[in-house]
Amino acid sequence: MTIKTPPKRVFDPMLPRMGQYRSIPETEDKAFSVWLQGQFDEIYSSSETPPLCPHCQSGQTVLATRAAHPKPVLPVFRCIACDVHFRRTTGTPLWALKFQNLTQFIGLLSQQRPVTEAAAILGVKPVTVSRWIRRTREWIMDLDPTGHWDSKVRLGMEIRPDIPCPNCGATDHMHYRGFTSDTGDRLCRCDACGQFARLSNVLRDQGPDFVLEHRVVNRPPSTRRKTSTAVE
Ligand SMILES: [Zn+2]
Ligand SMILES: [Zn+2]
Repeated sequence: MTIKTPPKRVFDPMLPRMGQYRSIPETEDKAFSVWLQGQFDEIYSSSETPPLCPHCQSGQTVLATRAAHPKPVLPVFRCIACDVHFRRTTGTPLWALKFQNLTQFIGLLSQQRPVTEAAAILGVKPVTVSRWIRRTREWIMDLDPTGHWDSKVRLGMEIRPDIPCPNCGATDHMHYRGFTSDTGDRLCRCDACGQFARLSNVLRDQGPDFVLEHRVVNRPPSTRRKTSTAVE
């Protein structure tokens, strides 16, 4: 039996992390956006053909309420077998989410940009963007358990190069910290010894088979974030 490793995300070390000093170019994965937009069109469809019941999987379902302005936004169905009302989003990670500028959000999702920048573009709070990303990724994994499409999501992911520090040798301690002013080379800083190194110099010191990999920085949730998720 072979265990399939999920596809890896591909990150570009030359893209700025924050975008204050130089703007971040568009890196949208159009194939991803088209696929995801199609999935959203389906789940947010106003089609009145009843889907299977999300509770009992029964096909004995009927339309209960048409979508109308202003409410309900989505058609409501009823399961005759278990007598519950549901929408296409019921039982999915998208349940009760209200996206704004959804198409723009989809276009940002595959891009290597910080959440704060996406929040400014979308006109919502960063915490909201983080929630949309988290729930959308859960849904993407439900739709495609191979992880192929999830690996295309790069919005809000802070990356670190998986290289040893050329100064102290510490592994797992290098972070991207700006660019050199002379050559525009990517700078890395080791948080074990505090020394800076040029990425190109570090790469030159590696063996011929070396491939630069990136790790995603996982920050522990702050107390402020905890409070805001509690009222979600
Ligand atoms: Zn049912
Ligand atoms: Zn070091």
